[in-house]
Amino acid sequence: MLIDFHAHVHDDDDGRYSDMLVKEARRIGIDYVCISEPVTHSRDSLAVVRSQNDLVFRTYERYPDFFVPLVYTHANLGQAALDEVQKGFDRGARGIKMEVATLITDKCVEPIIEEAIARDVPLMQHTWHKITGNYPFETDAVHCAEIGRRYPELKLVMAHISGDNRWGIRAIRDVPSVYTDCSGSIADYGHIEYCVEQLGADRLLWGTDVRGADYLYTLAKVRDSHLIDEDKAKVLGLNAAKLLHLE
Ligand SMILES: [Zn+2]
Repeated sequence: MLIDFHAHVHDDDDGRYSDMLVKEARRIGIDYVCISEPVTHSRDSLAVVRSQNDLVFRTYERYPDFFVPLVYTHANLGQAALDEVQKGFDRGARGIKMEVATLITDKCVEPIIEEAIARDVPLMQHTWHKITGNYPFETDAVHCAEIGRRYPELKLVMAHISGDNRWGIRAIRDVPSVYTDCSGSIADYGHIEYCVEQLGADRLLWGTDVRGADYLYTLAKVRDSHLIDEDKAKVLGLNAAKLLHLE
């Protein structure tokens, strides 16, 4: 089972991008690709949330047996943010995605967290740790750790191992409910093995960040790593299947 837990859709009125993405993913042997919004730094915009989700679900509807949609929201929109999340579940969402509209520790995120818990679905939070300083509302690994401690029943996925592997792994190491994905362009020497050594093989999910990064080399980071086969299978798909309730 091969599941890309972290990919993005793009403007695609004629479906050519989706067709290309699916063709390439199938060539490589990927069973499912989890899709969310084209990356945006906007916040506080219902129009953006709606248009991004519309694109996600239109893409999903082209290949409903292959794409797994995550619904996107700006929690600082209050009730409207929650309404959009609920509409997303009506259209087939299997998780929630947040980017840089709020810090995950902001008070306004609490209803979204509670919704994820009530539905028993993963909440994926874009997470980064920059030595030059994050964007004003860009969640850091320490924020994910704080939320994981506060809501141990939440299936929180800290995206990208926070972009700084050692920092991110250290932040969530002692918070067993927090997962992470190794999507993106970073490929530090030995970081996949280090992540599994520190967190265990059950908490790491393979993802690509397509099309910010390529399927092939993000796959090789895990498939050709020094992990034992049983752990590779978990990271490459079994963990995601369990989180998403996929067969
Ligand atoms: Zn991403």
